[in-house]
Amino acid sequence: MSLSQFAEIILPLPLEGTFTYILPEKKKVSVGVRVVVPFGKKKIYTGIVSYIHGKIPQDYQPKEILDILDHESIINETQLSFFRWMSDYYMCSLGEVMNAALPAALKLSSESFVGLNPHVDPEKANVEESERALLHVLKIHDLSVKEVGEFLNLKHPQKRIKKLAEGGFIDLFEQVKDKYQPRKVKRIRIKDFWLEGNHLELLLAKLESKPKQQDILLSYLREIPILENSKNNEKGILKSTLLKDDLSAHSLKTLIRNEILEEWEENISRINQDTNKRDTAEVTLSHEQEIALHDLRETLTTQPTTLFHGITGSGKTEIYICLIKEQLKRGNQVLYLLPEIALTTQIIKRLQRLFGNTFGVYHSRYSDNERVEVWRKVLTGDFQFVVGVRSAVFLPFSNLGLIVVDEEHEPSYKQYEPAPRYHARDAAIYLSILHKSNAILGTATPSLESYKNALDGKYGLVQLAKRFGDAYEPEITYANIRKERKQNTLKGNFSSELINAIEQSLEKKEQIIIFQNRRGYAAYITCDHCATIPKCANCAVSLTYHQFNNKLICHYCGYNQAMYSDCLHCGSKELRPVGFGTEELEEELKLIFPQAIIKRMDLDTTRSKYSYQRIIESLENQEIDILVGTQMVSKGFDFDKVNLVGIFDTDRIIHFPNFRSYERAYQLITQVSGRAGRKSKHGKVIIQTNDPQQQLLRIINDNNYFSFYKLEIKDRERFHYPPFTRLITITFKHRDKKTSFQAANFFYHEISKRLTNQRMIGPVEPIVGKIRTFYLHEITLKMAKQGVNLPATKKYLKSVALFMQTLPSFRSVGVVFDVDPV
Ligand code: ADP
Ligand code: ZN
Ligand code: ZN
Repeated sequence: MSLSQFAEIILPLPLEGTFTYILPEKKKVSVGVRVVVPFGKKKIYTGIVSYIHGKIPQDYQPKEILDILDHESIINETQLSFFRWMSDYYMCSLGEVMNAALPAALKLSSESFVGLNPHVDPEKANVEESERALLHVLKIHDLSVKEVGEFLNLKHPQKRIKKLAEGGFIDLFEQVKDKYQPRKVKRIRIKDFWLEGNHLELLLAKLESKPKQQDILLSYLREIPILENSKNNEKGILKSTLLKDDLSAHSLKTLIRNEILEEWEENISRINQDTNKRDTAEVTLSHEQEIALHDLRETLTTQPTTLFHGITGSGKTEIYICLIKEQLKRGNQVLYLLPEIALTTQIIKRLQRLFGNTFGVYHSRYSDNERVEVWRKVLTGDFQFVVGVRSAVFLPFSNLGLIVVDEEHEPSYKQYEPAPRYHARDAAIYLSILHKSNAILGTATPSLESYKNALDGKYGLVQLAKRFGDAYEPEITYANIRKERKQNTLKGNFSSELINAIEQSLEKKEQIIIFQNRRGYAAYITCDHCATIPKCANCAVSLTYHQFNNKLICHYCGYNQAMYSDCLHCGSKELRPVGFGTEELEEELKLIFPQAIIKRMDLDTTRSKYSYQRIIESLENQEIDILVGTQMVSKGFDFDKVNLVGIFDTDRIIHFPNFRSYERAYQLITQVSGRAGRKSKHGKVIIQTNDPQQQLLRIINDNNYFSFYKLEIKDRERFHYPPFTRLITITFKHRDKKTSFQAANFFYHEISKRLTNQRMIGPVEPIVGKIRTFYLHEITLKMAKQGVNLPATKKYLKSVALFMQTLPSFRSVGVVFDVDPV
């Protein structure tokens, strides 16, 4: 035994630490490879080797590693350090970090699912017979890894699954649904036979009597010059293009039936469509951009992190591109982070024209296979540059030179559920330090945290305060809803001021964006007779009415039920919608402007992979006059023809009960406003409010971030909120309300014994006190920035939670730590 080596393995479990296993003899194992190990009595997991050593564990007899899945590491040492930091800082297990980091296909956990690659025909696949039988089953339905094991009669099928996945026969994913469906188009070409000798000539002569069929053939020959080069026939023509010129679809069918033409389906891949067109033309930076670029280069040499504060439309992206090119020239890797919703075809196309196919896109909307592809190409060095959403921080970079965090203020950089509840901006800053490189945080509306760090000299600060080109900042006006309501000039929810402005824009053929940060039709439904409001069965929230499918839907858990015509409580038919969402605004607009083309962009209209891009493209192609949307419309869009933005429900955003509500409102309104007039002189923003005089709105009108900062930072200091303190929120979850409350109380008293100098809020019921049948109670710790040993405090809090869960009455209470909640 003394010769044998041991390995520490990270398992995908919410358990502390790593687990010791015996290395198999005569097999090479290195840090960062995946191994298959037994765990507990029956379970088999795929884990990652994090450390190899010769120290025999004292307290238990380790088991042997069953199998090794990789020859080369798929995770490097820097990543392992990063994972360890994340698990410590965000108070979760290494396994949870690993789970978030690895695409499902790399994890091969027994809960992963396997499906047939839609391009594969099981009959023709070059596989063993037992595997072919498996592919036939997968054609009908997906199987879990465990079920595959049972089917193939293998105790641990991971290696076989890996082989089939690498051969492209199967796909792996986390859930049964969510499968990657390639987009297909139909193409038409002439059958080879007719290209030989003079066959084509004879055919055309013969078709004299069938003019419609002849038309089609001639049309094809006009579009595809096969007479010059018969090779052109191979790619054929899009069926839709061919049929565009009023040709008969029926005759086309006949031609196909008679084997003159043939039709086939082509898979078109995600975004790479015109990547051979490289844009070599250099843009010329404006004077202001040149200065900003110069300043950034300066601060990058003296400061690890720099805040780049440039107003909307100032042209930050071109500056990032210059810096990215410089890094790539030096042989360094670059990561460009964007919030989920801002990562659009617009930005990808722009980058593709510049960098061709040498960079990767890491997006949660992509299939797992696509994500694995990016992972591998970063590993092999094929991708030196990646643009991605928050989870891209986990990619196997080995020599990052620069991380750009665009829209650094975006709350969606923070992961809520499940653990690790990390903030990708903050994680990126740590990651850049691990790589001894730089991070640039870019935004028009900095978070208070980042701005304070910049003013305190912890970050560099570079400003760009002028819009690019001839564009001015948009003019903001306020429409007084309260007044208009009294004067009876409202049309539905629209002020006369906004209606007039829309009318003018439509006349000028300009586009309009309407922003309402609530989807659905009505916020809730109430009975006019007994005032009953339909509530979710699982959560403490009212159900939102959606007219398009006539349903009441819970926005927290997705619970839904058909809308009813009579009150469930008293039977009255007088049900009234209260509060409005995007759906209702869309409908009102259609009534007021019947000739305008109106589209809606919210969670409900963008569920499928391409729907979001499709809406953006039609806005770009000016096939939409008015776009109504939630905060999805606020993120980094760049449309030339949008010159009017209308903002609804401003007061609700401003007065949301959260210490960040002013910051959010400022950011949201400024960002949405920033979509107006990006390429022209007269962008206009109309904000509907009950109180145009309120302080925040006056400040937004000045469009001076610093005055906002001065106002807000005072309150943060007075009430001990970040950036003056650090917050940790601890949530207690249980199906029984009393147990949840008692657990929170117990915890509170336990920690008050030791953390006497901390400010603690709670235990309280959060705004939504019940989610997915679990009752919640919260404690929030406000920890001073100085004089608190943060790592020790976190360890202590975790130990109290573990201790609490050993007590019989609290054993089944869930405890969730959220570090730096947003
Ligand atoms: P920001 O991200 O700061 O809001 P963008 O980078 O999207 O602004 O730039 C705003 C607009 O100005 C875009 O349409 C962009 O193409 C254009 N633009 C910026 N810089 C230049 C430049 N140097 N030359 C030409 N167009 C530019
Ligand atoms: Zn009623
Ligand atoms: Zn619910």
